[in-house]
This record gives sequence, structure tokens and C-alpha cells, in this order.
Amino acid sequence: MSTTSQHHASVTLPPIHVPPHPKWPPLEGERLVAMKERIKSLLRQQDAVLVAHYYTDGLLQDLAEETGGCVADSLEMARFGTTHPASTLVVAGVRFMGETAKILNNEKRVLMPDLNASCSLDDGCPHELFADFCDQHPDHTVVVYANTSAEVKARADWVVTSGIALAIVQHLASQGKKILWAPDRHLGAYVQKMSGADMLFWPGSCVVHEEFRAVALERLRRLHPGAAVLVHPESADAVIAQADVVGSTTVLIKAAASLPNREFIVATDKGIFNKMRQVAPGKVFLEAPTVGEGATCQSCANCPWMGMNSLHSLARVLEVGDNEVHVDADLAKRAQVPIRRMLDFAAALKRSATAGACPSEPA
Ligand code: SF4
Repeated sequence: MSTTSQHHASVTLPPIHVPPHPKWPPLEGERLVAMKERIKSLLRQQDAVLVAHYYTDGLLQDLAEETGGCVADSLEMARFGTTHPASTLVVAGVRFMGETAKILNNEKRVLMPDLNASCSLDDGCPHELFADFCDQHPDHTVVVYANTSAEVKARADWVVTSGIALAIVQHLASQGKKILWAPDRHLGAYVQKMSGADMLFWPGSCVVHEEFRAVALERLRRLHPGAAVLVHPESADAVIAQADVVGSTTVLIKAAASLPNREFIVATDKGIFNKMRQVAPGKVFLEAPTVGEGATCQSCANCPWMGMNSLHSLARVLEVGDNEVHVDADLAKRAQVPIRRMLDFAAALKRSATAGACPSEPA
């Protein structure tokens, strides 16, 4: 592990408007059953498949699995859409996930329950400002997190998700490349610390993961000394430092199932608890402390943009057919290159893990 100093872009980011948490009418009993049946029938009629992120409402995640869709992190969501034969992909997540699905499946119809479902990382990285930053550093390889617009991806050499970021940066660093990283500064700092790579950072952050508080986490750990601490690397350094496991949503879910601990303190969006309880029944999952409800906190470990997805908004979009994601064909072609590079690298990594070798440069 290296202690390389950090260099940040000196840009003034636009203010991020965090929407209030949407309030959906409760669905229980017969009304819930009727709503699920309605959606299942609409999915069949429309030759559609539901792809949901781990941070969405548990009811959506369960329905995705019940109907042959998938619940996954953003890397797997991107992969799933390319392999499933359905002509319509319904992406329950945030806008960049719908865009990525469209970029990789230009011939398919991609719908989202709510097109306003954004992300503070995406909103905090306007493509014109980002292009200026890249132009100032032409000697750097541009690596961007998946949580970015199609325009920002089109400017990148590589797209990464949190699940594969470290492996790709280590690969580039081993070739002596200097890296321009955007937009999440916390994930970037973590990757730099683990890889020792020469990195320049865009100063973006996730409003959800930034709320986790290190001092309150120390107190909670003292109250639950047997608990394992699971942390997503979009969290601040002082929170990551207390983790037993740092990783993508998939890594954290696997840790919940495989570690022997009975209790877990989890620092990521609480939507993930739905899957953790499924894979580790009987174990106890505690939310890592945030700024707190009633304080200035507007997300409290629950992404308000992810919250725009519900059974109501899903049924509505399947009935009305609006909220279709469009990405200009030329832009999609350019944005596809760094995404495919990541997917090819991930496939090579998987093959080499099976064969016990190092991944070679993907095509
Ligand atoms: S949890 Fe953070 S990174 Fe994920 S979609 Fe919400 S704002 Fe973006």
C-alpha cells in the first residue's frame, strides 16, 4: 500500500440539487399482489425484462428476480442487458445505468421508471468542464467511474465500476501510465492508496456515502465488538479505515454471506440489506451511522434518486411507454469503446483467475 499525495482538479463544481425522498402510497396485501401481477403481465406483453440495482426498493429487486430479470451492481447490470434476448430493457436504477444499457444495446428499447433519477457524481461532472480538465492533461490516461454521463464516458479511455476499478488502475500503473480519475474523489483516493498509482482527481463525491461518520462508527463498533464492518469505497477515508471489508456492492454481499460474524455494520445504501438478508438469513445488519434524520442530511444512507424507482413508477412506464432512454448513435459509439474495454478486461480477469495467470491487455 502506498501513501502517495493527492492532486485535485481546481474546478468549481455546480451545486447539486438533492431531491426530497419520494413518498409512495403503501402497497400491502391484495393490492401488492395485484400490482405485481399487473407488472408481470406488462413485462410479458412488452417483451421486457427488469434489471434492478441493489440500492432500489426490495420489492423491485424481488420482482426482478421472480420475472427472470436481474438484481446486480452496475457492472453486472451492463453485462446482463447485452446477453438477455428481450427487446425492451427496463432499468430500475439511476440515469447513467439506463444510458449505459442503451449505449451497449442501441437496437433495444430502454425504459426507466423515472428519467429524473440522477446521481450526485454524474451531476457533479459536467462534460464541458471535464473536457477542459482532460485537455489540460493530455499525458494522462482518462479513467472514469460508471456514474457519469454518456458524454463524459465518450471522453474517457476506460470506464470502471467500483468492482473492477482497482484491478484496472493496477494494470495501467504497471505500464507506467499516469491516470486522470473522475468523478468520485473518495473511491479515487482508495484506489490510489491500494495501487500506488500516479493519479489526478476530479473533486466529485456521492452525497449518500459522504454522510457516513467515522466517530459515530467507532462508538457503534464498541457497542457491537463482534460485528464485521462492511464499507463501500465511495465513503470517506476515515470510515474506510475502520472496515473489515471494502468493496463494491457485490463484494459486500458476498462478505455478508461468507464471514462467520453474526452481526454486520454496513456503510452503503440501505437498499442492499434486502439482498444481504436473503443470502445471510439469521444474521443482523446494522446501518453505519450517518449525519442523521432530522439533521441537514437529505439522503441518510438511502439514495433519493434510487428511491424514484417503485412498483408504481414501474407499472406506469410499462403502461405509458414514455421515459425511454435515447443516446445519440455517434455518441453511443464513442462511449461504447471504454465500456467495452472494461467488460473485456473483466472477462480476461475472470479467465486468468481460473487459469491462475495475469490478465493481458484486452483488445
Ligand atoms: S448512492 Fe451515490 S453514487 Fe449511487 S446513485 Fe446515489 S448518489 Fe449516485
